Amino acid sequence: MSEPTATAPASILRIALDAPLRRLFDYRAPTGATGIVPGMRVQVPFGRRELVGLVIEIVEQSAVPDARLRSVTAILDTEPALNPTILGLVRFAAEYYHHAIGEACATALPAGLRAGRPLDEREPRWRLSDLGQTALAAKPRLGARQRILVDQLTRRDCVDLTDLEALGEGGRQALRGLVAKGWVDSYEVSSEGSAPSAGNIGERPTPTPAQLVAIDAIEAAIGDFAPFLLHGVTGSGKTEVYLRAIETVVAAGRQALVLVPEIALTPQAVARFRARFDVPIAILHSGLTDSDRLSMWRLARTGRAPIVIGTRSAVFVPLARPGIVIVDEEHDASYKQQEGFRYSARDLAVLRAQREKVPIVLGSATPSLETLQQATLNRYQLLSMPERAGAASIPRITVIDLRIHEERHGIATPTVMAIERHLSAGGQVLIYLNRRGYAPTLFCPGCSWAAPCEACDARMTVHMRRQQLICHHCGAQAPVPFACPRCSAELRPVGQGTERIEDGLDELFPGRPVVRIDRDTIQGRGEIEQALERVQSGEARILVGTQMLTKGHDFPDVTLVVVLNADQGLFGTDFRASERLAQSIVQVAGRAGRASRPGEVYIQSACPEHPLLQRLVTEGYEGFAQSALAERAAAGWPPYARLALLRADAPERTDALGFLEAARRAAPTEYPVRLLGPVASVMERRAGRYRAQLLVESVQRAALHQFLTHWLIQVEKLPEGRKVRWSVDVDPLEVT
Ligand code: ADP
Ligand code: ZN
Ligand code: ZN
Repeated sequence: MSEPTATAPASILRIALDAPLRRLFDYRAPTGATGIVPGMRVQVPFGRRELVGLVIEIVEQSAVPDARLRSVTAILDTEPALNPTILGLVRFAAEYYHHAIGEACATALPAGLRAGRPLDEREPRWRLSDLGQTALAAKPRLGARQRILVDQLTRRDCVDLTDLEALGEGGRQALRGLVAKGWVDSYEVSSEGSAPSAGNIGERPTPTPAQLVAIDAIEAAIGDFAPFLLHGVTGSGKTEVYLRAIETVVAAGRQALVLVPEIALTPQAVARFRARFDVPIAILHSGLTDSDRLSMWRLARTGRAPIVIGTRSAVFVPLARPGIVIVDEEHDASYKQQEGFRYSARDLAVLRAQREKVPIVLGSATPSLETLQQATLNRYQLLSMPERAGAASIPRITVIDLRIHEERHGIATPTVMAIERHLSAGGQVLIYLNRRGYAPTLFCPGCSWAAPCEACDARMTVHMRRQQLICHHCGAQAPVPFACPRCSAELRPVGQGTERIEDGLDELFPGRPVVRIDRDTIQGRGEIEQALERVQSGEARILVGTQMLTKGHDFPDVTLVVVLNADQGLFGTDFRASERLAQSIVQVAGRAGRASRPGEVYIQSACPEHPLLQRLVTEGYEGFAQSALAERAAAGWPPYARLALLRADAPERTDALGFLEAARRAAPTEYPVRLLGPVASVMERRAGRYRAQLLVESVQRAALHQFLTHWLIQVEKLPEGRKVRWSVDVDPLEVT
C-alpha cells in the first residue's frame, strides 16, 4: 500500500494562445512558482516556437497525459495584465460570439503586450530646459502647434503623450523642433502612480432644461449600474451632457470610458474634451503606433488618465477606477467588428458597465432599433432631447422628385437653385452621396457591355483621376479601356460618384471652392484634419462626400444639406437597409444649421412617395422607427428574434453550399431554432470565391446559444469544412 503523496499536485495553467482554435492549452506551472493568477501573461513553447499566452484558469489536473504536458517557459507579469472584470468580459465574449478564446484575448491586449513588452514601463515626458526658459522669454516666432506646446509647458511644467496626440499629425514634429533647439528636455516617469487631481474645468454653457434632466438622472446613478439611452437630435447637446457627467465622475476620482465610432475620433473631437478637462486623456484609435497604443493603454490601466476615449476595441481596456461608460453614436456600424472576432463593442460595453457597477450612456440622434426597443421595455432609461441647444433650429426638409425635374451632373434644377441661394447668402453647402469614384459603371451604348470585375459578381467603378477601373468589393484594378472590348464602340461612364459630382459642381458653381471627403481623398488622420480645416476656415464653400461626412463633425456654417440619391437605400436587400438609410439621412441632415443660421435639407429621390421617406420627412426618426419596429415584429426580425449566420466561401460554388448543407444536416434538432438556407449570398462571387450562408434564427437567446454550442462542435468536424473558409457571426449586422 502506498502512502498518499504529501506534496500538493502540480498546478496546471490553462492558457489562451493567439490561434484560431476554440480551446485552451494546458501547461505545467514552473516548479515553485507562486502567485500566478488568471489574466497574467506567460511565455510558452508551442511546436518549435515560443508564444506569449494568457493564463485563463489554474486547475489541478489536465486531460493531457503527463508525458506530453510541457512547462511554461516564463511568467511575464507580476500582476494580471487583464483584471478579473476584463478577463471575464473577454471570456464571455468568446463564448457568446462562439469565437476562439485566444483570438479574443489578442483583441483585448495591445500588440506590444502580445509581443512580451512589460506591463509597466517608464513613460516619456518633456519639460522646458533652462535654455528654453531664457529663449522663450524673448518671445520667438513659433508654429501654431509649437505655441500650444510651449503654452502647456509653461502652465503645467511638462507635456506627455496625450498632449502630443491631441495636437494631431504635426504634434511630434513640433516637439522635435523644440528639442532640437535644446529648449525642451525629455525625461521618463513611471506609468504607475496616483491619478492627477480633477484639474481645472474649462468654460461651459448653462445646461438647457432637457440637458439638466439628463445630467441629473445620470449623476444620480453614479456608483451603480444604470443603462441610459440619450436620444437627442443632432445639436441637442449630447456631448455637453457627457462632459458634465464625466466632470462629476472625474471629480470623484474615477475614470470615464468614452467609445466613439472610428472616423469620429479626430483631433477636433478630442479638442472639445481637452478644452474642458485639464487632465491626461488617453486616446486609443487604429492610427496609433503599437508603442503609443501601449502607452495609452497603460495610462488607462494605471488610472493616470481619468478620461479614456477610444474606438471599438477600447471596450476591453482595463481601468483602475471605472466610473462611467459612454457610447457615442451607439447606432454606428463600426462598433461591430465585421471579420475575425465578430463582437459588438456597444453590446459588450453594456455588459461591462453592469459588471463594473457603473452607469452607461448610449447616445444617438438615430438610435438603433435594438436600443430603442430596450428603452421601450424600460430596460434602458430613456433621456430625450428633442430640441437643439443654443440658437440652432431644426432644418426644414424638402424632397425633390427626380422624375419631374431636369438634372445636370446628377443635381436637379430646384437643388441647383437652392445651392446658389445658400452660397450667395454666405452659407456653406454639404452634398452627400454614398458612392465614391467617378461613376459606378462603364457602359457600352453599342452592345450594352458594362465593365465587370473578373473576380466578383459586380461592376468596376470608374476612377477618372487615377484613370483606373477599381472594384469596390475586392480592390481589383485595371486601366480604363479606350473602347468597348466587344464592339469597339466608345464607352460611357454611367451614374454618379463623388468624384464626378465634384467636377460637376466646379462647372455649375465656378469660383466656389469644393472639398471632397471620401476614402479616395482622405487616407490618414492628417488628411481629414486638413480637409476639415479648409471647411472650418471658410475657404471651401461646398463639401461633397460619402458616409465619412455624416459622422460627428460639426460644420457650423453649413446651411444646406443635399442628399443626392436616397434611392440606393430604399430598395436595399438587407433587413437593415431602411434603418441604415434613415440614419444616414438624419445624421447628414443634422450637419445643417448647427449654429445660429437656419438650415435646409434637400433629398433627391425618384420615388418620393415611398412610405419610409414620407415617414421620415413628416414624423422624423421617431416616426420612422415606430413603423420600422412594427415591420420587424411582423416579419420576426431582430430585435424580435435572435440571429446567427454561418458563412462559407470557397473557390468552387458547390463546396461552399455543400459545406453548409452538411452543416444543416448535422444540426441538433431538439432546440427551438429555425434554419434558413443555405443560400448563395446576394453578391455570390467576391474576390474569386463563391459565398453562401445559412441563417439561424430563434426568439430565445439562450436556446440559440445552446444550439450553437452543440452544433459548432459537429460543424468543426465536418470533412466538407476543409475545402472552405467558414465563420460564425452572432447578431450579424448584415444578412445578405
Ligand atoms: P450633439 O452632441 O447632440 O450633436 P453638442 O453637444 O455637440 O450636440 O452641441 C451642439 C452645439 O450646441 C455645440 O456647439 C455646443 O457647444 C452647443 N451647446 C450645447 N449645449 C449648450 C447649451 N446648454 N447652451 C448653449 N449652447 C450649447
Ligand atoms: Zn460594345
Ligand atoms: Zn472585384
